[in-house]
Amino acid sequence: MTTHTAIRTENLTVTYTGKREVTALDGVSIEFTENKLTAIIGPSGCGKSTLLKSLNRLHEIQSNTEISGEVYFGDERVYNTDEPLPEIRRHVGYVPQTPTALPLSIYNNVAYGLKIHGNYSKAELDERVETYLRKVNLWDEVKDRLDEPGAELSTGQIQRLSLARSLAVEPMVLLCDEVTSALDPISAERVEQTLAALKEEYTIIMVTHSMSQAQRLADDVVFLYLGELVEANDVQSFFENPRDERTKQFVSGQESVAAADTEDNTTESEQSETPPASVQ
Ligand code: ADP
Ligand code: MG
Repeated sequence: MTTHTAIRTENLTVTYTGKREVTALDGVSIEFTENKLTAIIGPSGCGKSTLLKSLNRLHEIQSNTEISGEVYFGDERVYNTDEPLPEIRRHVGYVPQTPTALPLSIYNNVAYGLKIHGNYSKAELDERVETYLRKVNLWDEVKDRLDEPGAELSTGQIQRLSLARSLAVEPMVLLCDEVTSALDPISAERVEQTLAALKEEYTIIMVTHSMSQAQRLADDVVFLYLGELVEANDVQSFFENPRDERTKQFVSGQESVAAADTEDNTTESEQSETPPASVQ
């Protein structure tokens, strides 16, 4: 089967300037395959969110960031391109860690991007809002209350609503930053099920703290450590046959965490904040 690359970085370096200069990513070159789910894992503070945000130029809203190297979306250079920024953001959507509803109705939370980007009739909007709410498994829970404020939904529902809002503008790539870490286990499982279904259709790049989540969901895994890309491989090889010593230590150090804690994902993410002593 031929695989295509959706996004790739070439020698990507991101430095936060300011009082304390931090090189959050150091010469990272990586390819993300189309229509696969790639999990980015690694200890806290090692550059996972930085990598994710650099893929659709989200860093540009901060002034203290210096970026060198390249990011390609297909053949296009994401940085220094003549294409307007909103186009890149439309193709490469971002779902943040904290579930957030816009101060609008459930309906308009999904229709928001469509109203900005296109000229749709009411019937077309209705159809799309339903389609995307169905894709995130939320339709049945909200179909009778579409006019109510999105913010009144539960946290887990709001996270699926955010996903629906991102999907509504028909992105090709979805960037998800620890999208289940703020959720209770049942809501987290629903979001996971949604991601598992969506990965058939979209390229998903997902930061996760949870090894077990990476094992359940990912096709490919990328391990970052202190801003460096240590290892990238398909999920099975990554966990069963890690090549780099640091990956071996990280994977084995986390096994006890994953095994000890299959119920409560909050505890799991808190525990995995601390890298194993051997790689500190
Ligand atoms: P992760 O998502 O893996 O926890 P981040 O990408 O958020 O890691 O952070 C990588 C490094 O960059 C950390 O040392 C963090 O403190 C630093 N950092 C992240 N965002 C900023 C920022 N806006 N300004 C300064 N330093 C930052
Ligand atoms: Mg992060």
